[in-house]
Amino acid sequence: MSFRSIAVDGPSGAGKSTMAKRLAEALGFIYVDTGAIYRTLGLLACRQGVAPDDAAAVTALLPDADIRLRYGSDGLQHMYLGSEDVTESIRRPEISKYASSVSAIPAVRAFLLNMQRDLARTHDVIMDGRDIGTVVLPAADVKIFLTASAEDRARRRHAELAAKGLPDCYETVLADIIERDRKDTTRAAAPLQQAEDAIAVDTTGLSLQESFDALLETIRRKLGQ
Ligand code: C5P
Repeated sequence: MSFRSIAVDGPSGAGKSTMAKRLAEALGFIYVDTGAIYRTLGLLACRQGVAPDDAAAVTALLPDADIRLRYGSDGLQHMYLGSEDVTESIRRPEISKYASSVSAIPAVRAFLLNMQRDLARTHDVIMDGRDIGTVVLPAADVKIFLTASAEDRARRRHAELAAKGLPDCYETVLADIIERDRKDTTRAAAPLQQAEDAIAVDTTGLSLQESFDALLETIRRKLGQ
């Protein structure tokens, strides 16, 4: 049996996870948030007191890193470190920085690649990240490159954090986004870039519903549904 896959790549805060989650529901696919996998390793480095840009020290954590991804009864992706559900802890802003740094280490990317590919071998998936269309699933049926201006992305992330009771000032959120964009696009290992055959969707100024409608129509057309 062959499964269908949709790759959604783009910079931080472009709305990939919100969109991909809703699209997965509409299409009956599972949603795979690959950033959460890097965040879980970032959390482990943070807890072990390992500097996230110390490639040798982070690589030394890998053999014993018990990172698992499971789907809860709610149908949503949960991340585990050993037996602990860390789905919420990995969302803290300082863990975003750890994730961004550890994800630039080639050994980390190689270590986490199979976990991502295995899911696409056994399910219809919509997977979001930075290198899904270029590296993880180069033969995906549909590739979307989702973006929006840095200011729009910072406004959305700022509102999300405030809603979770983790307020940060807008300027700090914007500076973090610009810095993560810089790191994600300039790193040597699997940098963020649009796959040649990806469809670019810019959601600057669009509402959630408008972005969702545009994406669903594009995907259905490509899948021939
Ligand atoms: O998507 P999210 O912001 O949760 O990802 C956290 C970090 O993990 C990103 O800043 C990015 O550096 C990294 N990442 C990656 N490749 C992916 C997904 C995320 O390098 N496929």
